Amino acid sequence: MTKPIIGISAGSLTAAGGSFAGGEKMSVNEEYIKAICQAGGVPLIVPTVAEKDSIQAQAGLLDGLLLSGGDDIHPLFYGEEPDSKLGFCDLRRDEHELELIRAVGRRHKPILGICRGIQVLNVAFGGTLYQDLSRMSGNCLQHMQQAKKDVLFHTVTVEKATCLFAIVGTEQLRVNSFHHQAVKEPAAEFIVTARSRDGVIEAIEQRGEDFVLAVQWHPESLLQVQPEMRDLFRYFVKKAKQEK
Ligand code: MN
Repeated sequence: MTKPIIGISAGSLTAAGGSFAGGEKMSVNEEYIKAICQAGGVPLIVPTVAEKDSIQAQAGLLDGLLLSGGDDIHPLFYGEEPDSKLGFCDLRRDEHELELIRAVGRRHKPILGICRGIQVLNVAFGGTLYQDLSRMSGNCLQHMQQAKKDVLFHTVTVEKATCLFAIVGTEQLRVNSFHHQAVKEPAAEFIVTARSRDGVIEAIEQRGEDFVLAVQWHPESLLQVQPEMRDLFRYFVKKAKQEK
């Protein structure tokens, strides 16, 4: 049996030093690559491109798509003007990922969104975001954790009778947290499958048969400390294998 090809969406990075200092690179954190390898998939970095036909071709090559973390999505993609607390935006990446998500979705291939990935996935299907969590009503927890990335920082409550619950097998899960934005209005296609105690949406999944699931935390940084996160990647790769 051949292993499924899992595309990982890339972000741009400016080289800090060396002969090509200042040059633009496309990059993904190696933790995503290791997580896919460990789960039995073949990771493939998917660079930002502008050409629509190339994006369709990228989607055609993949058995599954992992939407990686990164900067803020420009609010124009969900009908808002930029808030003073909006962070750095890369509109080329936004446009590429939005098109790629729709192309992969039309092919009914599995999608796993992580951090920025839950946000761009929600926007791709017509949902909205909090541009900064301070704009939520009421007090909110610390979601940009002042601790290392593999520290389980806050609790999320997982809804029963969801795919996420079937994978993690528990209603109370501790996760890491590195975000200042979150899903505001989930798109109609999605159900909310986990929230933190302050009500922030921490996971969503698509209704119906396709595996389209996203989390606001970083499971790829928790593989050594939380077996449930290894199960999440394994489940995703297994789904991608079935869709081959
Ligand atoms: Mn959080």
